[in-house]
Amino acid sequence: MNSADSLPRFILDVHLGKLARLLRMLGFDALYRNDYKDSEMVYLAMHQRRILVTRDRELCQKTPKHLACFISAAEPYRQLEELLNNYNLLNRIHPFHRCLICNAVLQPVEKQAILHRLEPKTKRYYQEFYQCTHCGKIYWKGSHYERMKAFIDWLRQGRDEQSHPPEKN
Ligand SMILES: [Zn+2]
Repeated sequence: MNSADSLPRFILDVHLGKLARLLRMLGFDALYRNDYKDSEMVYLAMHQRRILVTRDRELCQKTPKHLACFISAAEPYRQLEELLNNYNLLNRIHPFHRCLICNAVLQPVEKQAILHRLEPKTKRYYQEFYQCTHCGKIYWKGSHYERMKAFIDWLRQGRDEQSHPPEKN
């Protein structure tokens, strides 16, 4: 069994789009749409064995207890921190594994095959690329990656109340 199989999978409430993106950035399976109805989310949680993450206590109560996760933080980075701590995921981060747009899995792609889609600077400075198996979006370890690394380092260091994530977006 692949180690990724034992990772919890999530479905995010409609207000948690930023958290969904952060989770995908770290390689976690995070289903999200901004037009899901409560009943759809509960259905998907049960049938796909996903943890339903929400800040809505009512929705939490409609969800089987073992699949419900109430998040108290309001700010996306704090929400991520809360979730990673709750499920002990800080050491199970797997960047460049999931598409930020559609949640599908990425795979390495030869630079030559996607050369025509790259900006001149990206072409010049980067050699390693990944592509979404569903929507085709291309990823590389550019400035976005550096910011994410800084964020993960921040999470792994003892976080005190005064410290802030290195990136807000
Ligand atoms: Zn995609």
